[in-house]
Amino acid sequence: MRKVKSTEIEDVAKLAQDKVYQELGTNSAGLNDSEVAQRQKQYGKNVLAKKKGTPLILTFLQNFTSLMALLLWVAGGISFIAQLTELGIAIWAVNVINGLFSFWQEYQASKATAALNDMLAESSQVIRNKTAQKVPAAQLVPGDIVKLAEGDSVPADIRLLDAHDLRLDQSTLTGEVDLVSKNAEPDTQKDSSHAAITNFVYSGTSVMKGNATGVVVKIGMQTDFGRIASLTQNVKDELSPLQKELNTLTKQISLLAIFVGLLFFVAAVFFVKYPLVKSFIFALAMIVAFIPEGLLPTVTLSLAGAVSRMARKNALVKKLSSVETLGSASVICSDKTGTLTQNQMTVIHLWTLLNSYHVSGQGYAPHGGIYDGPKKITATKDQELKELLAGGLLADNAQIQPPDKKHRDYVCIGDPTEGCLEVVAQKGGLDPQGERKSDPRQKEFAFDFQRKMMTVVIAKSNAHFFDSFTKGAPDSVLQKCTTYFNNGATEPLTKQKINEIQEANDGYAKQGLRVLAVAGKVLDPQAVKDPESLDQQEVESKLTFLGLTAMYDPPRKQALTAAKECRRAHIKVIMITGDNGLTAQKIARKIGIVDSNKPVKVVTGQELDQMDDDSLRQDLKQEIVFARMAPEQKYRVISLLQEEGHIVAVTGDGVNDAPALKKADIGVAMGKTGTEVAKEAADMVLSDDNFASIVAAVKEGRGVYSNIRKFLLYILNSNLPESIPSALFLFSGGKIPLALTVMEILAIDLGTDMVPALGLG
Ligand code: ADP
Ligand code: MG
Repeated sequence: MRKVKSTEIEDVAKLAQDKVYQELGTNSAGLNDSEVAQRQKQYGKNVLAKKKGTPLILTFLQNFTSLMALLLWVAGGISFIAQLTELGIAIWAVNVINGLFSFWQEYQASKATAALNDMLAESSQVIRNKTAQKVPAAQLVPGDIVKLAEGDSVPADIRLLDAHDLRLDQSTLTGEVDLVSKNAEPDTQKDSSHAAITNFVYSGTSVMKGNATGVVVKIGMQTDFGRIASLTQNVKDELSPLQKELNTLTKQISLLAIFVGLLFFVAAVFFVKYPLVKSFIFALAMIVAFIPEGLLPTVTLSLAGAVSRMARKNALVKKLSSVETLGSASVICSDKTGTLTQNQMTVIHLWTLLNSYHVSGQGYAPHGGIYDGPKKITATKDQELKELLAGGLLADNAQIQPPDKKHRDYVCIGDPTEGCLEVVAQKGGLDPQGERKSDPRQKEFAFDFQRKMMTVVIAKSNAHFFDSFTKGAPDSVLQKCTTYFNNGATEPLTKQKINEIQEANDGYAKQGLRVLAVAGKVLDPQAVKDPESLDQQEVESKLTFLGLTAMYDPPRKQALTAAKECRRAHIKVIMITGDNGLTAQKIARKIGIVDSNKPVKVVTGQELDQMDDDSLRQDLKQEIVFARMAPEQKYRVISLLQEEGHIVAVTGDGVNDAPALKKADIGVAMGKTGTEVAKEAADMVLSDDNFASIVAAVKEGRGVYSNIRKFLLYILNSNLPESIPSALFLFSGGKIPLALTVMEILAIDLGTDMVPALGLG
């Protein structure tokens, strides 16, 4: 069994890569199961110690010390002193029952939120037993090899072994909001603070750009974050607006009740000339009748109940108050890929300027082939096709895994848009593992939503023509192309060729397919050897166009029904996607989030920037789809909708979605494909990334909200009549006899406040 020495961050930072492995008793294949088990025993879980919550006994007692409860204790006490023992017992009994009931409701509610907390737990991508896998961040141990990508929150203190374009937000540790660059080079600085060490990333910070691989050095409370942070609880238990209002209302009514009680007491003594004790009982009845005791805990419990039900429907709500907001949502701005569609990509067409192909087979299994008309083709015989496939394959960060114990099917770990490129390359006769080994990656310029493309530089073998491959949205990539690949050489890209490419792209997009373009470039061999010298702008210019890949992503079946329900409930659905306008429109029609009988306005990000607020407002009243949008542009659409009085739910997954998620009345993050940064910013996380789950949550919210309103109306109405008989008795100077005794009023109050509350809860 390999051993881990107790290691200091400063020391590990100075080591070369192989020494890092040695120091932490691991290697690039990762730990094996028995090592992981042994280290978990030795180091414990990668979690922060929980801040002690309020002890149960205190929460219990709190329910007997509210204003209302104190009042009843005193009242009961006075009754005992006045030797009205029965009354005293009755009052105290009411108090105890009330308290127990409230406590039980609170306890149920907190159990529901605790369960939710577990569901919101983070997971990380690690390499163990030579395979990439997702594990809960809590199970990481020192020596684990972790992969980090844009939007991940760093799960432990990690020494980097490999980093591309990596930028971190370390503000949780340092308060510094500017992003810091990190790399994998051994640290040569003397006495630098932990935050300044450039080859370490720390628990609690977030990856805002680029990607990396590293070794876990410290976990849990041993991390810097663990030392400074008390528990950051995922589920925030702040009161919802409704709860706050109720809280105030209860207090006001209680005060009013006491005031009225006093008034009655004085009136009874002086008008009716009642004896003191009788007057007291009288006043007491009024107070008890007026105070709406069951209100707040009942509302809390019904909100918590809704939260649990939503969780079962894959919508994890982080705050109780979101239930209310969800219930009043009038617009849902939704992503396309993965939310309305399945994010199950299969390349079904390939296109070069020389030829077009169709691809058989479905999903991530490498079964099927590439066909030129009826003829099955292998890439080795077709150089243009081969470079197109190799480009897609080498510029892909996802991994396809064959069926195993856990999965019956081939699965894609990583971005499906990338994974399907590996599958199609394999169908074309390329060997993904072999290609990756013979043409290792030197540098990656990571994907971002502004450029809508990404680039890799490889140390090419003889088999390939190009040193770098760029893949991305066709319109973006085409702008960077000056030549195309033809019979093993590059030729100028004329206006006419560009038109041909655009036509092909539009043709695929109109069918609702997602199209990516691939391009290549021949670089100076010297520059390839020194990857740090490579400049992104330079590498991503004067490219050679290789071809298009068109992928099919089936719509989610439940999305169709959900879209119909939205229509019926007058909830407007607006698709906001980074994809092509034609693709977006086709999918929107297919799913039915736009009215198929009406013309659909497609607004692209570029057009949006040219539009003033008034014309955008006009357009928002129509059937509309937003395409080629950068995440930042969502913000403006949401603001305008809110100005128009809409309550807006917005979905998002990337780091750049955070501002929009925060701006939205309900920010909805994707649980599967969403980044931790997005989940942090959101009010609700969808564990299945499914649009239908948002709609289910809205329905649930509406139901609860209307229940609570009915209940409130009932309670407030029922308390008034309870006090009327006493008032009549009093103001008739005792001529109208007392219809209800104090005991009866107490009994009615207990029954009518609490039994319906139970039903509702
Ligand atoms: P969507 O709303 O369809 O998910 P994104 O904002 O994720 O769109 O992506 C915008 C565009 O960037 C996509 O339409 C596609 O053309 C391109 N793109 C997406 N993912 C990748 C990737 N991994 N590599 C290269 N290009 C990509
Ligand atoms: Mg996307």
